[in-house]
Amino acid sequence: MPIDPTLPYDENNIFAKILRGEIPSHKVYEDEWSYAFEDINPQAPVHTLVIPKGPYVSWDDFSAKASAEEIAGFVRAVGHVARRMGLVEPGYRLLANIGRHGGQEVPHLHVHILAGQFIGPMVMAR
Ligand code: AMP
Repeated sequence: MPIDPTLPYDENNIFAKILRGEIPSHKVYEDEWSYAFEDINPQAPVHTLVIPKGPYVSWDDFSAKASAEEIAGFVRAVGHVARRMGLVEPGYRLLANIGRHGGQEVPHLHVHILAGQFIGPMVMAR
């Protein structure tokens, strides 16, 4: 069920619980700003999620409110994870869903890294 992106940050969303170690995840990478883990329902041979450690609902919230350090740290982490996984060649797709039309289901910003095969057309055919 897509989230309402105008709601305040929910400290009990599933990714907040993952960050606090309250529910398990398969960690791929972690640094001061970011945490990366495998998606529980992979849509490609490689499907990794990268999230900022700060409490941001979405890309909209993050880009408006995060500090320059948080933004730099997170953007660098996404690139670092992809490089470390050897994805630069043959390539990968980044995806961030925002709100209802984006189909966002978890109200903590996450960037999907999809790879391991051709990921297909940019959007579903109408
Ligand atoms: P989105 O639709 O962009 O909000 O994507 C949410 C993603 O989170 C989906 O790809 C889910 O499979 C994934 N997901 C949900 N719960 C978990 C979990 N506990 N561990 C890992 N991935 C999850």
